[in-house]
Amino acid sequence: MLKLLVSFPLLLLASTAFAEGEAEKAFPGHRVVGNVYYVGSKDLATYLITTPEGHILINSGFEQTVPLIKASVESLGFKMTDVKILLASHAHSDHVAGHALAKEVTGAKVYVMGGDDDVIASGGKGQYLYHDSRWSPCVVDRVLKDREEVKLGGTTLVARRTPGHTRGCTTWAWRVADGGKNYDVVVIGSPNVNPGYVLTNNKEYPEIADDYKQTFEVLKSLPCDIFLGAHGAYYGMEAKYEQLKGAKQNPFIDPDGYKAYVELKSKVFRTQPGE
Ligand SMILES: [Zn+2]
Repeated sequence: MLKLLVSFPLLLLASTAFAEGEAEKAFPGHRVVGNVYYVGSKDLATYLITTPEGHILINSGFEQTVPLIKASVESLGFKMTDVKILLASHAHSDHVAGHALAKEVTGAKVYVMGGDDDVIASGGKGQYLYHDSRWSPCVVDRVLKDREEVKLGGTTLVARRTPGHTRGCTTWAWRVADGGKNYDVVVIGSPNVNPGYVLTNNKEYPEIADDYKQTFEVLKSLPCDIFLGAHGAYYGMEAKYEQLKGAKQNPFIDPDGYKAYVELKSKVFRTQPGE
């Protein structure tokens, strides 16, 4: 810890804002459904979507998460250099501070939802509330709009802007084939109102409450069979992973869990004091 403090003071600052050490530990890479794999740490979710024309990666975690992601990708028999597109859940350090390194390691193009693009390109500048959280700037190759499609090798991901948590917070939705069936996959960007967020008379982010409202409308409208999110904890990743062993039914198929989670988070938002 002391060594980290001396060598990477900014990194440490970013880490403490969003993660508890346990969340950053390695976790076994595993197949979620079809061509979708979990390659993140214990809690910082990173997804690999493989195609015959290269792969898509959602989230890079912190800089120190990138080697864990690489090890996970390789453990599943894939190569980081085959990753062609790097996406994000939202521009907070625990999901995108590793973007510059991941781009360097993979050579991927970086696509970011409008509203989060400048934050990622500048390495953390312009974030609501987290003014001291900084990381390595990363070139953004394409700025996305709500409902824009990201296509690669027969897979089409739809970017849904679900703002509030950040201005360009993105929920990824797409259909995956597995065992002769099709499933709707949703990776929730984040519906959380963080400690310190102010929802009324917010000079820095005046439209924040309306943005959250829009987010819950979008999340409630999405069909979902496979419930995933920016953190494993959103969807009970660890428990579901344990259920994989010897399971007849894929534990990641959880439409009811998705609905219950969105309803719970919507309720939490609606009952905020609004300071
Ligand atoms: Zn966040």
